[in-house]
Formats: sequence, C-alpha cells, structure tokens
Amino acid sequence: MPAIIDIAPAQVASATTTKLLTRAELDAYDPESESWQKQFQRRYTHHSELKGVLNQVEDVNETVYNKFAIAVTPYMAQLMDRDDPKCPIRLQYLPSFHEETKPGFATLLDELGEERDTIPGTSVVHRYPRRVLFLVSNTCATLCRFCTRKRMVSQPTGSVHKDEIERSIDYIAANKEIDDVLLSGGDPLTFADDRLDEILGAIRRRAPHVRFLRMGSRMVVQLPTRITPELCAVLEKHRVQMVNIHINHPKEITPLLRQRVKMIQKAGVMMGLQTVCLKGVNDDVQVMRELFMQSIEMGVRPYYVYSTDMVEGAHHFIVPHHRMLQLYEGLRGWISGPAVPTFIVDGLGGLGKLPIIPQYVKEELLPDGTGTTVKCRNYAGKTVEMPGLGLDFALPTQSN
Ligand SMILES: *Cc1c(COP(=O)(O)O)cnc(C)c1O
Ligand code: SF4
Repeated sequence: MPAIIDIAPAQVASATTTKLLTRAELDAYDPESESWQKQFQRRYTHHSELKGVLNQVEDVNETVYNKFAIAVTPYMAQLMDRDDPKCPIRLQYLPSFHEETKPGFATLLDELGEERDTIPGTSVVHRYPRRVLFLVSNTCATLCRFCTRKRMVSQPTGSVHKDEIERSIDYIAANKEIDDVLLSGGDPLTFADDRLDEILGAIRRRAPHVRFLRMGSRMVVQLPTRITPELCAVLEKHRVQMVNIHINHPKEITPLLRQRVKMIQKAGVMMGLQTVCLKGVNDDVQVMRELFMQSIEMGVRPYYVYSTDMVEGAHHFIVPHHRMLQLYEGLRGWISGPAVPTFIVDGLGGLGKLPIIPQYVKEELLPDGTGTTVKCRNYAGKTVEMPGLGLDFALPTQSN
C-alpha cells in the first residue's frame, strides 16, 4: 500500500491542547469533560511523558520509535496501574526492551500477506469469497505493541488521499458478488463523523449488493467518548449491522465503556468482541472467563480469540498453541455457551483464519477393520463411545 487516508480533525496537532504530564493533572482529568478530538490531542507519544504519571516506566531505547510509535490516550493511562509494570493494560501499550530482542524465527511486517491480497490502487484486501476487508484508516487512538498492522498504523502522518478510498469503493461497487464489507484499519472511527457518513453512504448507494456492513474498532475501548449520539446516528442511517470491539482484559471494561456500548446497541447494531491471546495479559483461564462473562453481560458476543501474530517486536506476547487449546478447554462447558468465542490462528502468509479446537469427538477405525466408532469426551473429562455415529445407514427406498 501504504494505506492513505484523510486526516480527521483529531489528527491535526493543536498548540493549545496540553498534555497531562503530572499525576495530579491526570487524576483530575474527566474524559467526559471535553470532545474526543481534544482528548486525542492529549495523547502521550513518548515513554518519558508517562514517567510523570506512572512509576517504574521502562526506559526503552529510542530505536523502539523507529519501528513503532507510542500513543496512549489519557483515559487509557487512567486505567493503568500506577505502580505495577505488569499491569495488563500497561503491557499492551507501553514498549519494552523485549521488542528489540531477536526471536528464533522470522518476524515480518506483513505476516498475514495482506499486501499480496490487496487489490492494486485500493486498500481492499480481497482474500475470501464474497467478503472484503476495507482498510480505511491508518491510525488508532492508542497503539498496541502487538499490532498485526504495524506496517501501516504508526505512520506519523495520515496522508490525505481520497483517491484510494474512492477506488476501493469503485471496486466494491463493480464486484457484485461482494456481499460483506468489513471496515477496519487502523481504526475507522478516527475519521470525523461527516467523512464516515460519506464513506458508508457511498458504499450503501453504489453497492446495493452488500448485505452485511460491519466495522472493527478499538476506539470504543480506548477513547469511549468517541461514541456520540451523532456517530450513532451515522451508523444507524447506513445500517451498519455489526461493530466488533477489541478487549483483552476485564480491566478495560469500565462504566464509561458500558454506557457507550449501550449507545451503539440502541442504534440497532449487533456487537462482537475480538481478543488477542497475549502472554502475561490474558493467558489465564480465570481472566478469560471473567472477560467473556462481562462481555455477554453488556450484550457483546465474544467472536474471535486470535493467537498473537508473528509481527516484528511482538514475539514476547505469543502464547504457545498447546496453551491456547488449554484455555479453550477452560471455557467450553464451564461458562455460558454464548460467552465462548472461536479460537483462531491466522495462517502465515495469508492462509487465512483457521479455527483451533481441542478434540472432543473422534472417529476411530474398529480393530477388526469392519467400520468405525466414535469416541467422545466431555468438558469435564468423562467419556462415552457412540458406535452408532460411525455407521453410515443406507436408508431403504420406500416401495408401495
Ligand atoms: C478477518 C478477515 C475477514 C472477515 O472474516 P470473518 O471470518 O468473516 O469475520 C475478511 N477478510 C480478511 C482479509 C480478513 O482478515
Ligand atoms: S487497535 Fe488494532 S489496529 Fe490499532 S494498534 Fe491496536 S491492534 Fe493495531
């Protein structure tokens, strides 16, 4: 690509908005007291700025910034533990020396092969039949250290290029088999409401064959005041059917988040949750159970848990495959079914999303070779054998 976008008003630096550099200022700050754009301008963009508000901030080498920028909203900083460097929110957003160590395997900037599947001249990734990923923005409110799209989200300038978005919409309009469009980025909500209104409106007007219009956004979680009645009116007007938010730890679920989630739901939007399985953050059965139960409590359906992608500087977050299977086993059967998401590995180089499921049911060959039997194991380890499931009944045709 790289993806080229219009600059939302939020991204235009303002000389008048000051950062909250002392603990007293951060403690006194009410995220609801000003616009989301104002708060966006107050983001911390260097680890030294966070030293005034948090203790034990790691003094990372400046070379970290060559690979991936730092951005933290004041609201997010308020949720961080002041003293504990292992706080699950700090781990997600503050850089560490681990990012510079060399892992024993290749890490890539486009590990998922998205550029290969991008339609030239557009920011549409067309990998699967009938549905496309439309990368409309190249920035987020707060930058996650494990981001799979590091190659695009931390570019210092969100360069204005309406053409790429136009050509993307042309592509969607011209390909009538596309019935599902997923807006992502970056974060589509970094756009101002009127620009989002234009883009969604153009898709609905020019591509009436699109049956399902959805969006992935972490801004709902990182800067909840981005959700306003005006934004919800835009979502409702263009019948956005689903918004997937991204939460990795129950600490990210606050009264303010719940309130704004409810606003989106009232606009008739179904909501889903995406989670990245991260070592030290949520690779724990109790943490996951709590996260997914809190999620269904607010009416947000856990959708996917992704393994950490093998992107540069994120290897220290990788949870081994066998551990992910154990985590799944700790959920299925133990908590409400709707609270159990699908666990996913995104195959290297663009193989796509692959479900990972422990084996509960397996078909085995009978010792005498005459057929098969099916051996079952439930969530609590009890077993039963169901030979009847191994049979392929040939139904007699009715004669009369
Ligand atoms: C994740 C993804 C989608 C959407 O996949 P679903 O399983 O339908 O949610 C579409 N395109 C690309 C390239 C993706 O990575
Ligand atoms: S919210 Fe998503 S796209 Fe944005 S920095 Fe985090 S992982 Fe990357």
